[in-house]
Amino acid sequence: MKPSFMRTGRVSDSALYRRIEFALYAQTQTIIMSHIHELIDWVVSVYIVKDGKVLLVRHKQLGMWLPIGGHVELDEDPEQALFREVEEECGLEIELIGSAKPSLNDPISKPLPTPAFIDIHKISPKHRHIVLVYVARSKSGDPKLAEKEHHDIRWFSRADLRKKEFGLLPAIIFYAESALKMDEYIEKSKEFIGR
Ligand SMILES: [Zn+2]
Repeated sequence: MKPSFMRTGRVSDSALYRRIEFALYAQTQTIIMSHIHELIDWVVSVYIVKDGKVLLVRHKQLGMWLPIGGHVELDEDPEQALFREVEEECGLEIELIGSAKPSLNDPISKPLPTPAFIDIHKISPKHRHIVLVYVARSKSGDPKLAEKEHHDIRWFSRADLRKKEFGLLPAIIFYAESALKMDEYIEKSKEFIGR
């Protein structure tokens, strides 16, 4: 049986309890999402910031609030995967922040933006994701819900991130708060140098 938070759409259970419940559920499912490799996949995620808020989506299959993102397909580099996922999952025009990317004049090397963070986490007892975590600013547009994949899409204030009703995992809160801090820092730097 599906975990209660997936049946009801409510996220009132504690984050830890939901993770355990989800792991048990995942064991009973052959395919819960279209993975690429059997054991470990590469994934990109991006915390998009606008006006002091960060964008998250409520994932249908996982029943959780997560950033925009997804698998790096076999014919993509991480940057291509990132911008494809942004287009598919929210439709915003973004610019990455806190990502270094040198311009190289080299015939075979294409520099890629460095992620702000990297982690590996369990999706099911047998499957893990190495996640390249990016931070971006929304340049234009309003986020559009990707109805096939997500129940909801919304901007989270710093206070929202810690509200129990959303049941955000600790890593999601950490990355989202870091994204807001990076955005604020860049704004302050601009004031300091008078731009
Ligand atoms: Zn996977």
